[in-house]
Amino acid sequence: MLPITPSATPIAQIALDIPVSRLFDYLAPGLTRQDIGLRVRVPFGRKEMVGVVMGLIPDSSHDKHKLKPVLEIYRDAPALSTELLRLLNFCSDYYHYPLGPTVMAALPTTLRRSQPIQIKLAHAWQLTSAGLALSANDLPSHAPAQRALLDTMRDGLAHTGATLTAICRGYRGIVKTWVERGWAAQINLPARLHAPPVAADTAPQLTPAQQDAVTQINAAFTKYQAFLLHGITGSGKTEVYLHLVASALDRGGQALLLVPEINLTPQLTGVFRARFPHIEIATLHSGMAEGERLAHWLAAAEGRARIVLGTRLAVFAPLPHLALIIVDEEHDSSFLQQDGLRYAARDVAVVRAQQQGVPVVLGSATPALESWYNAQNGRYTLIRLDQRAIANARLPAINLIDTRSSKPEEGLSVSLLAAIRSRLAAGQQSLIFVNRRGYSPALMCFECGWGAACARCSAKLVLHLRERQLRCHHCGHVEPVVHACPACGNIDLKPGGFGTQRIEDALTRHFPEARILRVDRDSTRKKNSWPDMQRAIHKGEADILVGTQLLVKGHDFPKLTLVGVINADSALYSPDFRATERLFAQLMQVGGRAGRASDAGEVLIQTQFPDHHLYRLLQRHDYAGFAASLLAERAAAGFPPFVHQAVLRAEAGKLDTALAFLRQAQGAAPHMAGITLFDPTQASMARKAGVERALLLVQSPTRKPLQTFLSAWMLQLYALKANNVRWNLDVDPLEI
Ligand code: ADP
Ligand code: ZN
Ligand code: ZN
Repeated sequence: MLPITPSATPIAQIALDIPVSRLFDYLAPGLTRQDIGLRVRVPFGRKEMVGVVMGLIPDSSHDKHKLKPVLEIYRDAPALSTELLRLLNFCSDYYHYPLGPTVMAALPTTLRRSQPIQIKLAHAWQLTSAGLALSANDLPSHAPAQRALLDTMRDGLAHTGATLTAICRGYRGIVKTWVERGWAAQINLPARLHAPPVAADTAPQLTPAQQDAVTQINAAFTKYQAFLLHGITGSGKTEVYLHLVASALDRGGQALLLVPEINLTPQLTGVFRARFPHIEIATLHSGMAEGERLAHWLAAAEGRARIVLGTRLAVFAPLPHLALIIVDEEHDSSFLQQDGLRYAARDVAVVRAQQQGVPVVLGSATPALESWYNAQNGRYTLIRLDQRAIANARLPAINLIDTRSSKPEEGLSVSLLAAIRSRLAAGQQSLIFVNRRGYSPALMCFECGWGAACARCSAKLVLHLRERQLRCHHCGHVEPVVHACPACGNIDLKPGGFGTQRIEDALTRHFPEARILRVDRDSTRKKNSWPDMQRAIHKGEADILVGTQLLVKGHDFPKLTLVGVINADSALYSPDFRATERLFAQLMQVGGRAGRASDAGEVLIQTQFPDHHLYRLLQRHDYAGFAASLLAERAAAGFPPFVHQAVLRAEAGKLDTALAFLRQAQGAAPHMAGITLFDPTQASMARKAGVERALLLVQSPTRKPLQTFLSAWMLQLYALKANNVRWNLDVDPLEI
């Protein structure tokens, strides 16, 4: 064999935001392995692009004379670590999405531009070796301020003006002299993340159950172990998280906490800042301004921010000292990214913990069935908190109102109205949960059966009476309310079903004296309106809340003692096999809002099916029983988690085009044992925003063969002609 001559110029394999499943080779003179993970500027066609160095190889399979050189290497931000690149590689493989776009999507937008970044720096001072050698005797004898400064700076670390002012307001003059004498040096540090001051709090005494949970998880630090923390609402999961984060910090590590909603981050950040007032906390979510997001990302990447709180995208935050991952409300569907790289942040968090050898804690009162199953089969360790943390706080009584005998009028039954009235008299709050915003989900003609529908979607238009509009909640289409049936001319059009506005109106008629607050995406659209409303609710400035699931998630309103539920039944006959799982979780969560403090709570559910086993189990707060019944159903029907699925979705102007593509895809599928390929069908929502949607479902009893199949199939799919069709693959889909 001939020896391979190493070429002088290494070749860099660059990830670019180009939707093809390969990296791009560039000549990279001077680059070393240390530069892997850094951003570079490269020529691409007639443009220039920013990419990330994924690897260095001695030779390229492409003609070396045609390779272009890297134009610039950016050293302004830390390189993506080997661990993070490994995680991104895993995601690209597992979700079958090209590596380049996967890597680039993990960067804050500012870092995807071909410009060096601007970082805000703060002045800081540090003793030189001469300064460190000083003793108090070297300072003037009557200079307590100088002595105090010297004492503080003896730790050899850099101190910013903020710290030094606290010791001596006139520190500037002193350190200036020290710099002149060569005792201290001025350096520039990245500015600390801006955060308004909060009052520090101290940890309460843990309940025995909380203490058990903390002890068990503490024992797993420095190795991978996944815990499912199943704690009923109000059981004090947050306190467990706080203790675990403290353990991670004690070990010099960083803790990552994922939450489902942007809305929850400020609240939770406040809790963490109060507990860890001296620790820098980074937050990462899509609602942040670019510069802010970059500053927080860098603080995480440089290890300065020891705690990182964020929504799903934070699962890719660079964390050089990662020691612990927590996923709060792990069942929540907002952990799913629905376009681009379609990932489930909860699952990626578990993989990340596994790769890094750190514990991961998934917390929920109503775990996702997949997680529960993993706890049953031993993959996750189950830890339960069965009692509310506050002494005497009990779970609410859940009662059903049979709407067949007690017919609701304008959505509200007599029993529910009476319950609200008694809360009003007692000065307590009620929450009416309606899972639909707007006035009513349909506008109908009862003469001929016509219903207002969106021309661009297979969906009904929602009547918004306040705004005098019909709105499509899927594509945003808006039109004025029609006053006569376009089909038969009937002028007596009626709303069909109930939305938050309609219930609000009915409540206003029944309780004209009550302060009613509607909380849904329409009423909270303006920035800060929801935080303002939350404060008002806390202060007792509202008597009745009417709202959608926005109100459900993780809020704690001490005066709230009654939750009324309207319209829950529809999930019972939904074709979506996950609908009952979602309903049960939602009702448990919304019920958990009632009676969190000293007053007992009650939940009243209006239903036509009071004997349904879902409601029976709910009345007993029996999540485990319900999960067992769901698992039995799913096992019998061959649904997840007993099979693993992937969905190939296609969208086109015409349904036939989309279906034809999927039939081609079906034909191109490699034959593999254990893989079931279903025929292409219309999506359950067949048209959205003027685009026809179809899908093809693939499943397998085990994950591995499905992955092997998908890898082989994707190669075929990329080779197919897909004129006028947009397609994507969704692995572990939540909706089919
Ligand atoms: P969860 O997230 O499990 O629904 P929270 O973490 O919101 O529950 O806790 C519910 C309430 O109990 C909060 O008001 C919290 O401050 C309080 N709490 C939690 N742990 C303790 C404890 N050990 N002692 C006293 N109060 C506690
Ligand atoms: Zn009509
Ligand atoms: Zn529409």
